[in-house]
Amino acid sequence: RHSPPELLPEHRVSDVGCLIAGEWVTEGGQSERTGPWVRAVVSRARQADQEDVLAARAYARRGAKVVARLAPAARAAVLERAAGLVAGRREELARLLALELGKPLKDGRGEMDRVADTFAVSAAEARQINGEVLPVAGWPRGAGDTAFTYRAPAGVALAITPFNAPANLLAHKLAASFAAGNSTIVKPPPQAPAVSAALVELLLDAGMPPEAVQVLHGDARVGAELCAAPEVAVISFTGSAASGAAVARAAGAKRLVLELGGNAATIVCEDADIPHAAGVCARTGYTNSGQSCISVQRVYVHRSRYEEFVAAFTAAVEALRVGDPLDPATDVGSMVDDEAAERVVRWTAEAAGAGATVTTGGRRDGATVVPTVVAGPPADALVVREEVFGALVSVLPYDDFDAVLATCNESRYGLQAGLFTSDIRRIVTAWRELEVGGLVVGGSSNYRLDHVPFGGVKDSGFGRESPRFMIDDYTVVKTLMLRGI
Ligand code: NAD
Repeated sequence: RHSPPELLPEHRVSDVGCLIAGEWVTEGGQSERTGPWVRAVVSRARQADQEDVLAARAYARRGAKVVARLAPAARAAVLERAAGLVAGRREELARLLALELGKPLKDGRGEMDRVADTFAVSAAEARQINGEVLPVAGWPRGAGDTAFTYRAPAGVALAITPFNAPANLLAHKLAASFAAGNSTIVKPPPQAPAVSAALVELLLDAGMPPEAVQVLHGDARVGAELCAAPEVAVISFTGSAASGAAVARAAGAKRLVLELGGNAATIVCEDADIPHAAGVCARTGYTNSGQSCISVQRVYVHRSRYEEFVAAFTAAVEALRVGDPLDPATDVGSMVDDEAAERVVRWTAEAAGAGATVTTGGRRDGATVVPTVVAGPPADALVVREEVFGALVSVLPYDDFDAVLATCNESRYGLQAGLFTSDIRRIVTAWRELEVGGLVVGGSSNYRLDHVPFGGVKDSGFGRESPRFMIDDYTVVKTLMLRGI
């Protein structure tokens, strides 16, 4: 068993404030976050109350006018400076991710590198926001007229983020919203308040005006209240499918982007390099203990290579280093809390009871799930049907390529898929047929570049998160018509 108390003298508890009308407010009702690995309080966050919500809404409305008047070049400059500041805070923030969430330093550093990219790409996109001269004279009724469009800031944006990648998802939402010229209210996940506030502080240090951002900590109730607020023009939400549905109900007719859950499939064809595919799936199936919306959850392997894959994959998974997230060599740290880890163990047992073979793992130590491989679960097992969001990958044999695409599509989710083959016909067929937002060929489902559109279909939500697409969502098209000119 691990002995976390050794680490305690090194860390101090972060007192995290709500940022309202340009002031960090720490006093008042607080909630403590106990780190799942260190098993001690790591942060204490002020919880927004009704008055805070009202104050933030009013200030955001005024703030939106201020931000809209900032030239896109000035917004871009702030985001470029922020991208430059990330390197200096990388270790501190990666450490906070390890403390609050049990995320290994390796993954936390990777997340911070992506934050820098997200800021830089958002800055570049801020410089590209444009409009159109419409060819209205091409139709008889428009003869003699001229029409233009431009993209105006939407006004007040609401950004609600989940625990699993709290820094980069906050970066995506806030940077694109600021690039578009909005004032944003951020509602971070209750499990990662310190990391979220530290990132906002970094943006303020880079020169983001206080009118551009406020932070309200709290649970689903605070989020739901903000979703219903009339001042909010656009909501960008990342979280579970159930929460997303509740957000949509509360949002009414507001513009909405929903980035929700998944149970991503990766297909390994008979022509694949099995040791390579097994290695990639092992590395990307357990990153952040599998707590990623595109984590490798189901690997479908052609029956002729199935046994070989299960053996190579199990060996690669057993070679992962599991343990202290603060050790730079650790590959797999802990999950977000004991309940999440217990759920994974329970679902493993359910699959085993239904005839699957657990080739490795299947148990937990506190919040750490020993990386688990479930071979051959039935199609109706929870580990196949639902989102596992944990350190567990299922491997399933298939016989026919078209049939396996149909099997993948039986999922209520559709975020991203992976495919290992060199057969161009299969690649194009999978790209056309799979009900997903994106397909990765030569890699697993768990791969993302921050400037490439990303998002889902079906219960995985709608909208595409990448700075360019998000700026479209965070702006409104305004038309100018000149009669007779
Ligand atoms: P969650 O849905 O429990 O919470 C996400 C955020 O929403 C939190 O800040 C929470 O306080 C808030 N929230 C919850 N209910 C709300 C409501 N009714 N109204 C307003 N706000 C509400 O999700 P989580 O456990 O933090 O994150 C894991 C989930 O997020 C997984 O399902 C995962 O797949 C998904 N996710 C999706 C993507 C993507 O890009 N599609 C990326 C990361 C995570």
